[in-house]
Amino acid sequence: MTYTITSDCTGCQRCLPVCPTGAITSTNGKMAIAPHLCNGCVGHYSVPQCAAVCPTNYGCIEVSSSSLYWHAWFETYDRTISQLKGTPRAHLGYWQSWYETHRRLRSQLEQSQNSYWHQWFTAYSQTLRSIRSPASA
Ligand code: SF4
Ligand code: SF4
Repeated sequence: MTYTITSDCTGCQRCLPVCPTGAITSTNGKMAIAPHLCNGCVGHYSVPQCAAVCPTNYGCIEVSSSSLYWHAWFETYDRTISQLKGTPRAHLGYWQSWYETHRRLRSQLEQSQNSYWHQWFTAYSQTLRSIRSPASA
């Protein structure tokens, strides 16, 4: 199990000194984890230290298909929502409320591989696209 640093990283460098294998580097403020050096802290700590000290929820995540999938999904989603929030529309209040709810649920959903939510968010993103289309026309 290896870890990776995502675009949520703020560059605080808290993870840098705690890595027992020296897998984390900082180059011009950009953090990275060398996959051939990261062993998930196995044999050193019971939990991955980089993720444990990271002040963000998703700056440092496990390299797995599900975690990377959800991270990519939420990045796309956040981009879409920020564009939508910049568009004056009658339903903006509704979307703002939905967005805040989504933020609260995010940590739970990222840990989940629940197919119900996967299907629900797929349907939701399709709805978002159909709503955005007339606004951007
Ligand atoms: S999981 Fe452990 S070994 Fe891997 S980068 Fe993070 S601190 Fe280093
Ligand atoms: S602790 Fe998290 S936010 Fe800070 S540099 Fe490491 S990955 Fe980035």
